[in-house]
Amino acid sequence: MNVAAAPKFTEVDAARLARELYGLSLAVEPLPSERDQNFLLRDAAGPRFVLKIANREEALEVLDLQNKLLAHLAALATGLAFPRLVAARSGLEITPVGGDDGAAYFVRLLTWVDGVPMASVQPHSAALLRSLGGSLARFDHALTGFEHTAAHRTLYWDLRHASLAFRHLNLLSEPRRGTLRPFIEAWEALAWDRLPTGVIYNDANDYNVLVDSAGTRIVSFLDLGDVVHSAVICDLAIAIAYAMLDKPDPIAAAAEVVAGYHQVRPLSEDETNALYTLATARLCASVCNAAHQASQAPGNDYLNISNRPAWDLLETLATFPPDWPREVFRRVCGYSPEARTSASLAQTRRRMLGPSLSLSYSEPLHIIRGLRQHLYDAGGRRYLDCVNNVAHVGHAHPRVNEAIARQMALLNTNTRYLHEHLAEYIERLTATLPPPLSVVYLVCSGSEANELALRLARAHTGRDRIFVLDAAYHGNTSALVDLSPYKFNGKGGRGKPAHVEIMPLPDVYRGPYRGPDAGARYAAHVADIAERTGGPAAFLAESASGCGGQVFFPRGYLAEAFAAVRAAGGVCVADEVQTGFGRAGSHFWMFQTQRVVPDIVTMGKPIANGHPMGAVVTTREIADSFANGMEYFNTFGGNPVSCAAGLAVLDVIRDEGLQENARATGDYLLAGLRDLATRHPPIGDVRGCGLFLGVELVRDRKTLEPAAEEASQLVDRMKELGVLLSTDGPLHNVIKIKPPLVFDRADADVLLERLEKALSDVCR
Ligand code: PMP
Repeated sequence: MNVAAAPKFTEVDAARLARELYGLSLAVEPLPSERDQNFLLRDAAGPRFVLKIANREEALEVLDLQNKLLAHLAALATGLAFPRLVAARSGLEITPVGGDDGAAYFVRLLTWVDGVPMASVQPHSAALLRSLGGSLARFDHALTGFEHTAAHRTLYWDLRHASLAFRHLNLLSEPRRGTLRPFIEAWEALAWDRLPTGVIYNDANDYNVLVDSAGTRIVSFLDLGDVVHSAVICDLAIAIAYAMLDKPDPIAAAAEVVAGYHQVRPLSEDETNALYTLATARLCASVCNAAHQASQAPGNDYLNISNRPAWDLLETLATFPPDWPREVFRRVCGYSPEARTSASLAQTRRRMLGPSLSLSYSEPLHIIRGLRQHLYDAGGRRYLDCVNNVAHVGHAHPRVNEAIARQMALLNTNTRYLHEHLAEYIERLTATLPPPLSVVYLVCSGSEANELALRLARAHTGRDRIFVLDAAYHGNTSALVDLSPYKFNGKGGRGKPAHVEIMPLPDVYRGPYRGPDAGARYAAHVADIAERTGGPAAFLAESASGCGGQVFFPRGYLAEAFAAVRAAGGVCVADEVQTGFGRAGSHFWMFQTQRVVPDIVTMGKPIANGHPMGAVVTTREIADSFANGMEYFNTFGGNPVSCAAGLAVLDVIRDEGLQENARATGDYLLAGLRDLATRHPPIGDVRGCGLFLGVELVRDRKTLEPAAEEASQLVDRMKELGVLLSTDGPLHNVIKIKPPLVFDRADADVLLERLEKALSDVCR
């Protein structure tokens, strides 16, 4: 229908028509309309009627369809208040009148229905969204069985005929066309014949949905201009398309509407599956039609009302895993065979999983998808993941997934056979390391890597004693718990074993030495203890402390500590399980920021993006000492699937420039956090290297009294705001930030903006 054929009557004309046709002398106000003209007629008591003048090209039988439908609805108990049609004094329900252009226009009068458009109610509560679904379902029920030949028409707003809108794709710029393409392709693949049909309302947009004055209940749906015979599910799809606009969690909002609808008019499985595709098709049709209409009638603001929010929404939805919204809706409607409630999952864990394991957050998360730097939950919420340092190149990276799947389908054996992936992997891994680190052992976890490092060091030195840093964690085996002050000095710990010596954590914020000579002074303790105890087999340390609270060592610390250890006959082991593979930004390995070369490096977590894998790399000399005849065999370590995963991770780090991204984004984030600190006294210290950062919270910047309770509340509040963080450090007052390395500036902005809000909320 031609927007240019919209009537152009003045308010004076409208007042005259009301008087002459209906005998009403009332004040007149124009109302917005896409292709018709509507005037509000009011008296002193308020709005009374709407005078509707149809588009010049509107068929009389379509107006008759609307009138018959209003009469049909008036006779049913829908719980909704629909307008009633008022006949003219002539007795006509539709009166033709002449316009200034000489054409004939059809005029009708409807009673006014009280309420406010849903678009002007903010925010939309869950109850309101459910009411929208329930009310629309009742409306659809009421429409069942209504028939009119005029409903069988080809309407460009009918989602079956959305191709009429998609023709205008060429009016859009290429990035925007690219955004729409996957949604349109999904629409093209729909199986329409499996969707029940009937006469549908076809226009539950948020300007047509009327809400009561309390903003909690739907009272009516206005404007039957788009009524058509189509798939009934389109009504709900259109409603959720608009309900998602301007929402922080569009899928969660849509899920509320779907739940409300399903309760009243249960959706079939086919309808449930088609819903998201239809909703996104409606958004695409809307922006395409707006582009077309804008090209035809520049200056009509109504055409652009939902244009910007629709684009914002489409751009957000385009970043979601495409199957996730459908899975959320399937769960809402009971069609997901694997779905279980969070309560049932938690109960099974409580009953059957070893109890020495806690869940994150007081209300645990139920995550069902990951993509890049985001996690997606069962209820339709997305979270920015700022703590997962395992999904290094991003959750569910397609190159890693494909590498694993392809190799798993071909072969998975152990390392007693020759294999290309193993050879290539150890060549590529050692190429990232300085000489003489050239001999590799492949294992299955960070703990296994540290276990083996221990054996290597002990075999090489013939000694037993190990030096570790205070507050360190190195793994979950009994030998490593004994080397982890974080564990043996924590809850349930049995204290320091005799063969372990604890070096002070070189913390220049909270520790005893904070000046320019701090590195040397902390290292002097290592030399001192080596002298007193006779020297260790190994000094095992992270190159920046994770569990110690994201602590970065003062300049020169590791160089001097390593020198002291080596002078005492020990070897130096760098635990790069958390810090390796480019996270440091400036360097591929964190030890390089301290300008040292360890004798043994251990790796884990990010090495295969979540596939269980670990590695130890050492010198030829140490490897030879360990080769005393006893074999080191690891059933899973170094298998072709793990090597394929590890290779894919190295490829992606290189091809996507992730180390450089860690540097640039890390620097940007660090500056932003320091800026936050100028406004928020609880931020005592901000520190970081690449995408490995810490924010230490204190109650007093002088005494450094730790703000542990506040840190934990802040993390909970951030989760409510859609950002996942966690606390660390022996005093539990450090917010740790170590996201997947695909984390970008826009993510940093989201993190900073929400952190600012959460700090204001929590530390008021
Ligand atoms: N070393 C460090 C520094 C770690 O952070 C961890 C795990 N948190 C480990 C070793 C042990 O790794 P895994 O849990 O893979 O055995």
